[in-house]
Amino acid sequence: MSGCIFCRIVAGDAPATRIYEDERVYAFLDIRPITRGHTLVIPKSHAAHLDELDAELGADLFRVGHRIAKALRRSDLGADGANLVLNDGKAAFQTVHHVHLHVVPRRGGDLFTFARGFLLRRPHDPTATAAALRAGLDRLGAEPDRLDPTDRETRS
Ligand code: 5GP
Ligand code: ZN
Repeated sequence: MSGCIFCRIVAGDAPATRIYEDERVYAFLDIRPITRGHTLVIPKSHAAHLDELDAELGADLFRVGHRIAKALRRSDLGADGANLVLNDGKAAFQTVHHVHLHVVPRRGGDLFTFARGFLLRRPHDPTATAAALRAGLDRLGAEPDRLDPTDRETRS
């Protein structure tokens, strides 16, 4: 959809700081982050709302959001946790009508910083932030998957 800003980002027609990409999913830094490392995970194909999103693609979005949340904890951004949020429809304050999952890094005791970030939405050095997040993804990729039974068998 040419009028959709997120479709333009996927097509490379609008700028974005990319974190991760595969065949179906694209993840990039939010232009107005609530906290440093705030990432959006989107399907590459346009779906305005959950009603139009294929269930498998929805699972792919969560899979990538899950990995990014884990990578944040392993990154130098110092995240202790994350809020994963999906605003579906105008009634839920969705402002960009291409489905997206927010991954918002959190730190223990960050309520004041979080509230201020929610109001100000100021960017923090996107290039360094993206590099830190990608390093977290690399660290995660180097770990054995504790939840994968085939991995457990290999190690026992
Ligand atoms: P929503 O309120 O729809 O759940 O969130 C939309 C998000 O998209 C907002 O957090 C907003 O800052 C982000 N956003 C809007 N336009 C752009 C853009 O052009 N580039 C990037 N990177 N983020 C955007
Ligand atoms: Zn779109």
